[in-house]
Amino acid sequence: MQRRLFLAASVAFLPLALIGCATGADELLDQGSTSERFEVTRTEAEWRKLLTPDQFRVLRKHDTERPGSSRLNDEHRSGLYHCAGCDLPVYSSTAKFESGTGWPSFTAPLENAVGTSVDRSLFGERIEVHCRRCGGHLGHVFDDGPKPTGKRYCMNGAAMVFKPATEGL
Ligand SMILES: [Zn+2]
Repeated sequence: MQRRLFLAASVAFLPLALIGCATGADELLDQGSTSERFEVTRTEAEWRKLLTPDQFRVLRKHDTERPGSSRLNDEHRSGLYHCAGCDLPVYSSTAKFESGTGWPSFTAPLENAVGTSVDRSLFGERIEVHCRRCGGHLGHVFDDGPKPTGKRYCMNGAAMVFKPATEGL
């Protein structure tokens, strides 16, 4: 299953990567190249306009923010963490825990909120976590988390926007 997802992701993103490297011109990107895979798709130029530079680097370029750099590390209010790319709620404060890693960490995502793929870019194999709706890269998941799941969803704060439960309900 994960392998299939990984392959699908590779096929979807390869044309973007190749064109981006070859020309460096956002305008030449093919709008349709990721459309089969995610509900929300935008061109690289559109994402650049929509997102802050930090958000863009993490969500669209799979970058990892510096540990301890996100204000969300110290966020302890009740509420939901939304994808910064498409606003889909991806994590609840009830699943957040102090991992000591410097990245906001959760034991589980919200139901039907994220997808995973195999990331072989660094230190062998890791499981990459992305937004189910826009494909934005959120972080990685590891098997060394606390109960009840034993999972540690190690997220980039830059990829998320926190909305306190007291607002907008
Ligand atoms: Zn999203």
